[in-house]
Amino acid sequence: MDYIIATHNMKKRNELARILEPLGLRVFTADQLGLTLTDVEETGETFAENARLKSRSGCEESGLPCIADDSGLQVDALGGAPGVYSARFAGEHGNDAKNNALLLERLAAVPDEKRTARFVSTVCCTYPNGEEILVTGVCEGKIGYEPRGEGGFGYDPLFMVGNRSFAEMTAEEKDQISHRGNALRALARELAERKNNYDQ
Ligand code: IMP
Repeated sequence: MDYIIATHNMKKRNELARILEPLGLRVFTADQLGLTLTDVEETGETFAENARLKSRSGCEESGLPCIADDSGLQVDALGGAPGVYSARFAGEHGNDAKNNALLLERLAAVPDEKRTARFVSTVCCTYPNGEEILVTGVCEGKIGYEPRGEGGFGYDPLFMVGNRSFAEMTAEEKDQISHRGNALRALARELAERKNNYDQ
């Protein structure tokens, strides 16, 4: 079965394809299919609401089952912020350097044991008949004191798992433990089950 993924990000498409293709499922971006999907505004208050908004819209517009994700960082000492506002924490959408600087500033007086945080990724798959699969993956860690490492994106240089930041890991090492990796593996399990049910 063919799936469309509601992102222009080929890295996300490839990550998803790596996990879903062994199940015989094919994943395409709208660009690859010559389609244009509306860029849905992320107005939800939870990751699930935003993932659902994007996947429903993509499914309605393409007529294909559509996979969309929403993710972010929850910092305990900030009451779960930046959460769904992770991409625009410092005001400007997607300015990683400013977001990281603001995070360090907000945590300046916070001691080590209170710097706990987690990345969360929720993935929603909506089918043309209205059925929906919703899964969430989490990765627990701590916020460091200075950016470390050259890899990854977003808050990766500040997100410590043990004594390494996400940005100090290879993409494969991060995939193994990341929120997105965990969510996609959960999605793959759900899709495999669904496929088995259809095949019977
Ligand atoms: P989105 O779900 O792609 O919109 O991501 C929301 C924001 O969360 C990103 O802009 C990043 O700031 C942050 N984020 C989500 N996943 C990661 C990750 O794996 N590493 C670093 N930052 C992330």
